[in-house]
Amino acid sequence: MQLIDGKQIALQVHAETRSAVQALKARGIVPGLAVVLVGDDPASRSYVRSKDKMSHELGIHSAKHELPATTTQEELIALVEKLNADPAIHGILVQSPPPPHIDEAAVIRAIDPRKDVDGFHPVNVAKLALDDPSGFVPCTPLGCQRLLLASGIDPAGKHAVVIGRSMIVGKPMALLLMAKGKGGDATVTVVHSRSRNLAELTRQADILVAAIGRPGFVKAGHVREGAVVIDVGINRVEDPTAAKGYRIVGDVAFEEVAPKCSAITPVPGGVGPMTIAMLMANTVKACRQISGV
Ligand code: NAD
Repeated sequence: MQLIDGKQIALQVHAETRSAVQALKARGIVPGLAVVLVGDDPASRSYVRSKDKMSHELGIHSAKHELPATTTQEELIALVEKLNADPAIHGILVQSPPPPHIDEAAVIRAIDPRKDVDGFHPVNVAKLALDDPSGFVPCTPLGCQRLLLASGIDPAGKHAVVIGRSMIVGKPMALLLMAKGKGGDATVTVVHSRSRNLAELTRQADILVAAIGRPGFVKAGHVREGAVVIDVGINRVEDPTAAKGYRIVGDVAFEEVAPKCSAITPVPGGVGPMTIAMLMANTVKACRQISGV
């Protein structure tokens, strides 16, 4: 059984990003990423902090905007429009989820699609469906694809089953795996909360991607012998023995599933580190496209 080391593969992506940033700087261009946080959700705050820190480490200009939970939709969109027009900024990310009085879809639509490094704008969703490589693909599924390729697992011709149909993970993951070319060419099945005979379908998977949001949902009975399992889940479960009172587990019951797999990602240390790595890579891509280099 191969344990897919997301930390190590993320370091490879960071090394590529760092050298791309240096090459841009040699031409007088500094990639810039703006991260916007509304409110004080602790998990969101910690994601924003890591994105800011990673930008600094890679030489990317980082603009962190922390707005109070009382920020109105108009104020938030006004900030997005200011960032759209700012030549020092190539990537814009509004941390999800915003407070309930904000219409997240409207905010995403306000982002210039050329700066939408999260890949959530309708233009980028369409570009993914159209196999247009100039678009931005959501960072988590892009990271999962990269994990497969870096581990020598070619999805071509294989049966990939994706559990979950969210716009952030499941749906773009399915599109990536079925796209023509490297990292794609798989036969894809998507299963979700309304699927019948779920375990029967997941047991057919050569590659099983779990993006459900339920701790330990995928059991040994869901997985065929020799399958590759990518666990996207990040779930907090109470653990009085842990310093913080909780620990992070995936959507896969690792202990019972791992022995059946040819390869599997751990949680933490699998998909998680790839998401931020692909965000940084997307920022460099946006910078190159906007600067025309
Ligand atoms: P979501 O809640 O938007 O979607 C979950 C999907 O799972 C839905 O499409 C639903 O149909 C499906 N589902 C729910 N219950 C099910 C059931 N009983 N049987 C079958 N399918 C079921 O969640 P999301 O944003 O796609 O995130 C999924 C998981 O991935 C979460 O644990 C989240 O924390 C994690 N996540 C991790 C990263 C990362 O960086 N590693 C990034 C994004 C999300």
